[in-house]
Amino acid sequence: MKKLEDLILTYKDFPKKGIDFKDVLEILKYPDIFQQLILKMSSNQFLKNAEAIISIDARGFIFGSAVALESSKPMIVARKPGKLPGHILTKEYDLEYGTNSLSIQTSALEKFNSFVIVDDLLATGGTVNCVSRLLQDQRKEVLGLITVIELKELKARLKLGFPVEAIISI
Ligand code: AMP
Repeated sequence: MKKLEDLILTYKDFPKKGIDFKDVLEILKYPDIFQQLILKMSSNQFLKNAEAIISIDARGFIFGSAVALESSKPMIVARKPGKLPGHILTKEYDLEYGTNSLSIQTSALEKFNSFVIVDDLLATGGTVNCVSRLLQDQRKEVLGLITVIELKELKARLKLGFPVEAIISI
């Protein structure tokens, strides 16, 4: 019988040398384990207090939309450049080499004041921090992050100003 931990595949030196890429897509081939994971992610207290979920492009959408259904919460998205139509708010963040940016549609923020962020993996925390700054700039509250995996050696949770629920900490 497979366990969730067995389904996190590691690819060495992807997308570049020195990175151990953790692939979460194997989980989707095991619906029972995927369902257990979503139930766990959805049972969190800070999610209960949030008005909405915000999930992050692209693997965050897989888990975020399932958690949104299970918890009956609305979901909005933070997307990479050039993907969202209409009026958007954008923020840059640092990567190991260079920068990237994430955007949110302003119309998506109108109805909600408190959010839980959902993503697949927390590494340095730069991505999640970018989303939280986008929200906080609009005076929205970030109640927490729910992630499938946390790379605990990077200690990103200590830099974030809200609680982190990681299903797997490696
Ligand atoms: P960070 O901003 O460093 O916390 O990186 C988090 C984002 O980058 C997540 O959305 C992940 O999908 C992706 N990511 C970073 N490091 C890894 C890794 N070692 N394996 C898989 N995805 C990663």
